[in-house]
Amino acid sequence: MKICTLCKKKLSVKSFYRKDNDNLYSYCKECNSKKTKKWYKNNRESHMAKTKERYERNRKDCINLLGGKCKECGIIDYRVLCIDHINGNGSQERKIIKGGGSFLKMKKKIISGKHNYQLLCMNCNWIKAIQNNETRKLYTNFKDKT
Ligand SMILES: [Zn+2]
Ligand SMILES: [Zn+2]
Repeated sequence: MKICTLCKKKLSVKSFYRKDNDNLYSYCKECNSKKTKKWYKNNRESHMAKTKERYERNRKDCINLLGGKCKECGIIDYRVLCIDHINGNGSQERKIIKGGGSFLKMKKKIISGKHNYQLLCMNCNWIKAIQNNETRKLYTNFKDKT
């Protein structure tokens, strides 16, 4: 018999995993699987936090690479700045960039110099949309988000 150091239960040797021929783990199989689950959960949370962090970092990098301020009014607040895509075909069709993975791709594009991005704040974006009669499209974009 052996006492588990975690749950303090007195259990048969069979309830413990074997480290090598002579040694057993100090906690039982049940505690072992609980520990693994906990580790997995923590790990997943930190993984999610890292993903979010990377997303924010890439977004800020893109903003910095594009000058760090709104092209129209010069505001430098990251929270209202968004990256605007100008289509090369002259039709002035524009698109606000959303989504996570795309910022890394975008960053590479900006660095390579071959891009159609510009930096606008939410206000100037909206004003431009009104000027270009794009409000209906933008409105549906915003409605999708909420
Ligand atoms: Zn135990
Ligand atoms: Zn602006």
